[in-house]
Amino acid sequence: PISQTLGALLAARGAALGDARVLASPDRDDISYRALDEFTRTIGGDLRARGIGAGDVAAILLDNGPEAATAFLSVSRVAISAPLNPALKTEELAYLLDDMNARAVIIEAGRDHPVVDLARARGIDVLCLSAGHQAGVFSLDGGNGPESADPIDAAGPSDASLILYTSGTTSHPKRVALSHANLIAGSGFAAKAMGLVPGELCLNVMPLYHAHGLTSTILASIVGGSAVICTGGFSADTVLPMMRRYRPSWFSAVPAMHQAVVGMARTDPDALGGISLRVIRSASSPLPADLLAEIEATFGAPVVEAYGMTEATSLVSANPLPPGRRKTNSVGISTGCAIAILDEAGRHLGPDEDGEIAISGPNVFDGYGNAPEANAAAFSGGYFRTGDFGRRDADGYLYIRGRTKELINRGGSKIIPGEIDTVLRRHPAVVEAAAFALAHPTLGEDVAAALVLRAGAIVSTAETQAFLRERLADFKVPSRIFVVDDLPKTATGKVRRSELTKRFATAPASQEYAP
Ligand code: ATP
Ligand code: MG
Repeated sequence: PISQTLGALLAARGAALGDARVLASPDRDDISYRALDEFTRTIGGDLRARGIGAGDVAAILLDNGPEAATAFLSVSRVAISAPLNPALKTEELAYLLDDMNARAVIIEAGRDHPVVDLARARGIDVLCLSAGHQAGVFSLDGGNGPESADPIDAAGPSDASLILYTSGTTSHPKRVALSHANLIAGSGFAAKAMGLVPGELCLNVMPLYHAHGLTSTILASIVGGSAVICTGGFSADTVLPMMRRYRPSWFSAVPAMHQAVVGMARTDPDALGGISLRVIRSASSPLPADLLAEIEATFGAPVVEAYGMTEATSLVSANPLPPGRRKTNSVGISTGCAIAILDEAGRHLGPDEDGEIAISGPNVFDGYGNAPEANAAAFSGGYFRTGDFGRRDADGYLYIRGRTKELINRGGSKIIPGEIDTVLRRHPAVVEAAAFALAHPTLGEDVAAALVLRAGAIVSTAETQAFLRERLADFKVPSRIFVVDDLPKTATGKVRRSELTKRFATAPASQEYAP
């Protein structure tokens, strides 16, 4: 069992690594491990003085950057932090504040934010943050809680430290409370999988309100004693200039971001001058094999595809670093937790058999805070059923084939939408594609697909179906095909098929592209 808390980790790293830098940010001074320990301890004390302590939840609504990281670490030394996407709208924020029972919100000073009125109406303290000249260093203003003598770092390893919401790809975002032990275990697995040691430098572009950015990059770097450049978030045109300027040794992103960066490099090969990455990581949604090859060719560095989820404090599996074997289309081998493939009855399946991926280990949470029904269905025999299905080969490499909720049941034949997407993407006119279910009076469900076409491209439903029929069994070929400008996606670029099902549920045939 993990016997550490985040506070103890920060103190240990501060003592061992002292002046080594931990966070960097464009146009700010670096902050060292010792300073990070001292700073988060000071802010922790500050929060205690404002009456925020054990068991209290502080929502953090900050733009991406080093303060989002240090605010999370500071709150975690005394209470429970809940980083949220600051771009959420009033209705979403109201739901989340109530769902997590927030005691305080932290926002940037001088910024009109819809959360302020919501917080005031609920008697929630509003704390305003002003950034300093060092990466992540800030001061807090506001709140009027009682003076308190409670110590900081009083939490135990099994106490909640961080609340994250799932991405909401398949349903309403689910509340996941992760303990100190979960965070240390999960980020430890991520650090080991990426070979993070002092001297490594990560370029973080991932949002700091989801597990990918928070645990697999920031916390993993701290566990490994290495450093992170905290950027303002992803934008395709700044990644290569930032890499040239900071010379990071690794970089993690979702496939859609990798695709955009590779596209920038293609238009301007000089933009790669001086960039030398040890490894590139991709996670959060499936990485097409051709994109993996293109990223490797662009940077001359290995791409490691990883698989994880909020409930597992990010990491479940990853392809091994060289000289270990990376397998195309596989999300690699376990990075520390136990993985089983289960059938519907909960029986363990063998190599190369398809079933639901289930996990158990110190990085796995112990249940959704707001979804009792999901809990009842999700835990079986000590394992958490991930809702993803796939198989493992005899060497232990995991292959994800889709999500159980997204399977399309066409008159009893189960169809994996991702398989159809992959074939559609090979059509010369298609940029992006997503297959999805539509209700059908006799079949139960029918297969449809939405396409994003290359500029100026034209395809007909009949022609697209003919293309698919040459490559897929007839029963998998969508009977309706829609052309869209964009696919509906979550903040981390995951396709929301259920949104397509809703959008096209009552679409007349005239909306289909069928000249
Ligand atoms: P919700 O649970 O609210 O529907 P979500 O599952 O997308 O949303 P996250 O916890 O952010 O929320 O994402 C975890 C999921 O992302 C995994 O269960 C899996 O379906 C998908 N995923 C992550 N990494 C990969 C990968 N490398 N390849 C394919 N899918 C992946
Ligand atoms: Mg999920």
